[in-house]
This record gives sequence, structure tokens and C-alpha cells, in this order.
Amino acid sequence: MRVVVDFDLCESNAVCMGIVPEVFEVRDDDFLYILQENPPEELRSKIEEAVRRCPKQAIAIED
Ligand code: SF4
Repeated sequence: MRVVVDFDLCESNAVCMGIVPEVFEVRDDDFLYILQENPPEELRSKIEEAVRRCPKQAIAIED
């Protein structure tokens, strides 16, 4: 699995970080960083929740 974020849509509100801090991190510079672009399968359900709850629909999972 690969996690893809459309940074043109992302508004760095850190909703995804609240759900999966292992993968998403909004830093002091106010940018979102993807900590693991190819996260392990056990994180899939949490990442799917982040996809659903991102207010900007900026996150996608590619297989
Ligand atoms: S939840 Fe969406 S808009 Fe918010 S920081 Fe994450 S990717 Fe960006």
C-alpha cells in the first residue's frame, strides 16, 4: 500500500495526524509530512479512517 496526499488540497489541520500519528505529522512549519509512504498492512484500517475523515479529501491509498 502507498499513501498519497494531494498537497494542493491539504490545509494542514492535522486531523489525519490525530488518527494515525505513525504516518502523518504536521510540523511547526505548518506542513504535513508523510512519515511512512509504504506503511504496514496493520495500519490500513486507521489510514482508511483518515481518508474518510480528512475534511479536504486529500488522502488516497494506492495498492
Ligand atoms: S486531514 Fe487532510 S487536510 Fe488535514 S492535514 Fe491531513 S491530509 Fe491535510
